[in-house]
Order: sequence, then C-alpha cells, then structure tokens
Amino acid sequence: MSMTITKETAVLVVGAGIMGAGIAQIAAQAGHTVFLFDTKDHAAAEAKAKLATTLEGLVSKGKLDASAAEQAIARIQPLSELAKASSAGLVVEAIIENLDVKRGLFRQLEILLGKEAILATNTSSISVTAIANGLQYPERLVGMHFFNPVPLMKLVEVVSGLQTQPAVAEAIFELSKAWGKVPVYARSTPGFIVNRIARPYYAENLALLHEQSVQPYVLDACLRAVGFRMGPCELMDLIGLDTNYSVTRSVYEANFFDKRYVPSPVQRDLVDGGLFGRKSGQGFYDYREAAVKPEIAHFTPATMPAANKVQVQGNCAVAQYLVDALTTAKVNFTHVPESAWTGLSLDAAELRLTDGRPASQLGKELAVFDLPVSKQQGQPLAFAVSNRASTELAEYAATWLRFLGFNPQLMADSPALIVARTLAMLINEAADAVQQGVCSAAGADAAMKLGVNYPAGPFEWLAGWDAGKIVQLLDHLDAFYRGERYRVSPWLRHKAWQEAA
Ligand code: NAD
Repeated sequence: MSMTITKETAVLVVGAGIMGAGIAQIAAQAGHTVFLFDTKDHAAAEAKAKLATTLEGLVSKGKLDASAAEQAIARIQPLSELAKASSAGLVVEAIIENLDVKRGLFRQLEILLGKEAILATNTSSISVTAIANGLQYPERLVGMHFFNPVPLMKLVEVVSGLQTQPAVAEAIFELSKAWGKVPVYARSTPGFIVNRIARPYYAENLALLHEQSVQPYVLDACLRAVGFRMGPCELMDLIGLDTNYSVTRSVYEANFFDKRYVPSPVQRDLVDGGLFGRKSGQGFYDYREAAVKPEIAHFTPATMPAANKVQVQGNCAVAQYLVDALTTAKVNFTHVPESAWTGLSLDAAELRLTDGRPASQLGKELAVFDLPVSKQQGQPLAFAVSNRASTELAEYAATWLRFLGFNPQLMADSPALIVARTLAMLINEAADAVQQGVCSAAGADAAMKLGVNYPAGPFEWLAGWDAGKIVQLLDHLDAFYRGERYRVSPWLRHKAWQEAA
C-alpha cells in the first residue's frame, strides 16, 4: 500500500457541513482535486458557493491572491453520487456524529475506493477502533480530527485506533503539515487529547458553582488572569451549554462512569431549561438586549495595613514574589525559607498560599489565597478565610493582598480555591493521558495551546510549579471530598518522587 499522499491525490470529503466545507477549502487550497459529497440535496453545491464567497472576501481584503482563490474553487467538485469519487486516494469523512452511520459509510467507501485509499474520520468523540470494526482493511482507517473553524485552527489530532497501521497515521501526519496544520499523534481514547484534558477546566468550576462558593464572573476573571482568553463560564456560554454537556457526558460514559468525569447538575439544569448560552440568549450570563454583564471591581492599591511583625514563610516562587514586593515597598520583615508553608505571618494572623486545604482546617485567624500565576499588577486573586476568624480578618487579608498588588476576590472556604484547583486538575488529567499512552507531554502541550488556545500547556505549567506540591494539593482535595475525582495520576506521583529524590 502506497502511503504517500501528494497534491495529485484526489480527496473525497463526505459531509458538506461546517467541518466538511472547511476541510474541502484547505484541501483545495493545498492543490488537491476535491470531491465533495453530502446526502442532503444541493448541500455540496451550496457549500462550494459559500466557499467561493469566503475566498473572494479574502481576496478583497488582500489576504489571498485572486488566481489562487479561483483555482482552489475550480478544484472543488460537488458530487450528486458517491460513485463518481472512485478515483479518490483519500477520504475525509465529516458527516453526522453517529457510529452506525459512519461505519456504514466506510463499508461502502471501502468497496468504492481502491485498496490503496486512506480512510480518515473527523469524528470528535467516537472511537476510531469502533468505526473500523467490520471493515475489510481496518488498518487503513485513521482519525483526522480538525478543530472549528478548520481554516483557522492549526491543530489536527491524528488518531490511531487499535488496528490503524502506523504508516497510515504517518501519512496523515505529513499531509496535515502540508496543509499548514500542526498535527499531534493521539491514541483513540474518549475525548482524544483536547476534549479530554480540557474537562477539568469546566468541571472544577462547575463544582465550585454547585457548592455556591463563588459567582461565575469571579471564576472567569480569576482564570482570565492566568492568560485564558475566556473564563470557563463565558466559554461554556460560547460553545453552548448543550454541546459542552454532551461532550462531558460522552467522556463520562465512555470511561465506564468514572467519577473523575462526572457531569454537573448545574450544567444539566441550564440545559434542561434551554439556557444554552449565547445562542439562546441566556446561560451563565444574560445576552439579551440591555442586559449588563457583571464584572469584578477594578483594582485599587492599598497602603500597608497595621502589623508589628511581618514574616515571609517558604522558599518557592510565590514566597520570592512576596519577598520582592515587601522589599520594594520598604517593609521591615524577616524571611523564614525553611517554613513548611508559604505566605505571610502578620502578628497573630496568617495569610497562606493554598495547599489544597481550606483555611478553616488550618487555623483560626487564618486566610488562604489562590496561586498567583502572572506578575501583573492588579491581577484578580481569590482568597478565603477560616470560619473561626475574627470579623475583621477578611478585610485585613484583602487589604494586604491589595497592598501586595493583587485584586482580592473573597470566596467561600473551598479547598484549593480556583486557579490552583483548576490548573492542578488540568495537569493531572494530562499526566494520565501520557500515562495511558494517549499522547506525549509535548503533544499535550501543543494540542491544548493550538486546539483550545490555552496560554500554556499543562506540562509547561507543571515545569513552573512543583510536582510534589501538586500531588499534595490533589491529595488534600481527595481527602476533603473523598471519591475518585481527585485521584492522583500515577505519572504525576512518580514524577514527584523522582523530583524529591
Ligand atoms: P454538520 O451538521 O454541520 O454537517 C454534517 C453534514 O453531513 C450535513 O450537511 C449532513 O447533511 C451530512 N450528512 C449526514 N449524514 C451523511 C451521510 N451518511 N453521508 C453524507 N453526508 C451526510 O456537522 P459538523 O459540525 O460539520 O460535524 C461533522 C463531523 O465533524 C462530526 O463527526 C463532528 O463530531 C465532527 N467535528 C465537529 C466539530 C465542530 O466544532 N462542529 C469539530 C470537530 C469535529
């Protein structure tokens, strides 16, 4: 079987919807003859007409050469019958997300196309192994998972099922590069890479909402401060609560109802109520006319609150940040680098960086603050106070945080607060994906940055944090909540032991 796909290879795209049209566009722009087929009457021709308008728009903006646009459009041939595509050397399927329909289509295609043809599916959630079941040559079926909008999103997950021949995956990997994409290898497991590793970004924040620990706009502001383009709630509103819920459910079910992936009643209620987010006008936020989106208050700096004895505890990057901030502000303080915890002692009060335990578990006159990830002045930062603290402590802790350059956001005393909890769980999920051979660490980082625009990959966050501290934080979450959700990845635990040695 020849495994090289060249420009001369005709490409059959089946399904002329959102994804199929985008795939046809980039294949045609890369120089292939593209057959486009859809069971819905006129859908392929209409998709071609729409693509022509899109490319003309690019030409008028000066982003595309007029003759290149014309040639690309001329290469797309809408078909009324699949049989006319028998000369295709590659098929990319982008039809309805249904196992039986996809299987049936590939069985038909296998007979129609030569033995040499490569069969690729753009499924986002169905097992590639399962789609290949029943094929005469299951080894030539591979996942080619694009992201929406196809012409703009760089990532392609090249997904191998149990029987996919490595040379087939390699051919699709090389082809993706030739089409201007960044391919990443993945093993066919629920959610592949991106849709799996991203689950905690939604799940942890939904869990905080379920406990009524914090408002959606505070969660969003705190995670935007990390560099995420959108916070989890505004992102779920954009994706559609229904779509996001259905991906979560499919990952949960495909993992035999592992509690790690359990969907949230908060999301189910929104979906049941038809509150799908932007598309329905309401979700976590109200998008109807005249509605005002709530936002956190702007940062206001503070002068140093009263304290006779100020001590910085710990020696990690956050402790160093505190040392630097106090030095710049010319505060008289001492540093206790060997301390078992990180933060500030302020006379009888303590302001501690979260280690996954709630403030109420740690002491009386005690507040915990979230993991600061950027050094930006005025960044939102969550904090919580012990349930036995004096009534003045919340205000006192908030003023200290403002003095240190943060925009403090008081929330309920939940373990690991917002950023530490979310990032630790993203790292843990990515570690499990690597442990299970789904992808490499570099592949996970590339996939999350290119597929969902994360500001950094999970293993990049890990490199800037500390595996031992993340394991400790997750163990504390596990001890607090019990159950499987905060189970530490074996990969991460081994990494922590290795680093401690
Ligand atoms: P869509 O509904 O926009 O398009 C699907 C098209 O397939 C429709 O035009 C439909 O008429 C056609 N179709 C259905 N059954 C067919 C058949 N048996 N033969 C030929 N055509 C058929 O859907 P979409 O969003 O483009 O998704 C297509 C596939 O891509 C799905 O498997 C989906 O999971 C996957 N995907 C979607 C996204 C996304 O963000 N929309 C991202 C990645 C992958």
